[in-house]
Amino acid sequence: MRIVVDLNRCEGYAQCAFLAPDVFTMHGEEALMYTPHAGDAQREHVMRAAAACPVQAILVDQRDDQADEPAAQREAEAHVR
Ligand code: SF4
Repeated sequence: MRIVVDLNRCEGYAQCAFLAPDVFTMHGEEALMYTPHAGDAQREHVMRAAAACPVQAILVDQRDDQADEPAAQREAEAHVR
């Protein structure tokens, strides 16, 4: 999944860093650092972090990383949906 944080909105509340520390980390009081791509293992944590952000600054695109997956896997997922 692809993650984008609107840093103009982010107020540095650090909820995301609490809920998904492998993806979001605070540097200093208000500077947020984050990993723009996260694997399936992080999905639930990232979704919780996005839901908990008080200013809805975290945008998650769950479909984006499919472009990086092997075609066979993409096809298998297509049948599941
Ligand atoms: S929870 Fe939202 S406002 Fe707080 S640091 Fe994370 S992105 Fe910024």
